[in-house]
Amino acid sequence: MNGTLILTKQCNLRCRYCFESHEHVFMTEETALAAVDLLAGDGKKQGGISFFGGEPLLRKELIYRCVERVATAHPEKEFRYNMTTNGLLLDEEFLTFACDNRIKIALSHDGLMSRVNRLYADGRDCLALLDEKLMLLLRWQPKAFIMATLAADCVTQAAESVISLYAKGARQVNLAIDSRPDAGWNDDSMDELGRQLHIIADYIFAAFQEGKRISFNAFDEKILSITKQKPCHVCDLGHRKLYIDWDGAIYPCIQFGGLPEYQIGTVKTGIDEAVRERIHRRSLVKPSFCRGCALESRCVNDCACLNFQQCGDMGEVSPVQCTYQRMLIETADSLARRMLAADEAQFVERYLN
Ligand code: SF4
Ligand code: SF4
Repeated sequence: MNGTLILTKQCNLRCRYCFESHEHVFMTEETALAAVDLLAGDGKKQGGISFFGGEPLLRKELIYRCVERVATAHPEKEFRYNMTTNGLLLDEEFLTFACDNRIKIALSHDGLMSRVNRLYADGRDCLALLDEKLMLLLRWQPKAFIMATLAADCVTQAAESVISLYAKGARQVNLAIDSRPDAGWNDDSMDELGRQLHIIADYIFAAFQEGKRISFNAFDEKILSITKQKPCHVCDLGHRKLYIDWDGAIYPCIQFGGLPEYQIGTVKTGIDEAVRERIHRRSLVKPSFCRGCALESRCVNDCACLNFQQCGDMGEVSPVQCTYQRMLIETADSLARRMLAADEAQFVERYLN
């Protein structure tokens, strides 16, 4: 079980595609520690805690307190820690703490597209500072996961932006598309997205030929879904993850936060198993749209949270997501064939061993 703690809904940025409300609300220490205790008490030896927001680094002290709580009150529990951050408040002190306590940091950075997407409230972009923090993070965590988000009107800069992140030293990059229902994707921008993915694939292929260990997660997971039969996504809504909101209310995943009909408990009262199971069972209904699709096992169509965000229904996939998944699979397969033909030993080592 992994618990995502929403330490605040506030953020020091106002990204153009953000779905967060930016309310001035903050998780109290009492709520955070109760959340830690709840997660520690699930009867399992291992577990996970993800620090999330808004911007979690606005609550550094609370992160310190949560980790300390595990060490003092639950020393038998082996937690994996993660944090997703915009990175602007990263500093040596926090990174020392993160490395001492094995907190894996994922940085959201849109590469060159940050100039138009990742803005302060007064409209200034943060690219210069973001690049500085990217370098700092990579010094401490060289394999840190860098997550770019692609807005439809930036699609022509997608490949250049991803490549700029590798050029700055990133080794693991992913690209998610802005998937809000009003994100503005159309046939032209989707066609362009297909072209951009091929440029990224060419870059990854060139790096592979030089023996450079970089990965583009969106391709890798599609390749591994064939070579290792590893599913691209296992939703299991309500069973694997808990989303613990700033006020202690618990939901099965992030997109359901604040919706009373999806609340499955609180940190004080625990999980209402009947509600959790009811929501879980509803999430098992596969999109009728996907019936008979040969790509189903390689697609994220079972992500109830994403489907709910895009279609307002856990059991429906948006046409944009479907097209994106098909493009990723087609491009990743063609990349895999080229890599296999160029250097079979390296391909086997990376994708089969
Ligand atoms: S950094 Fe994240 S939470 Fe903050 S505005 Fe951007 S997308 Fe929203
Ligand atoms: S979303 Fe599209 S690609 Fe994915 S399983 Fe459904 S029909 Fe197939």
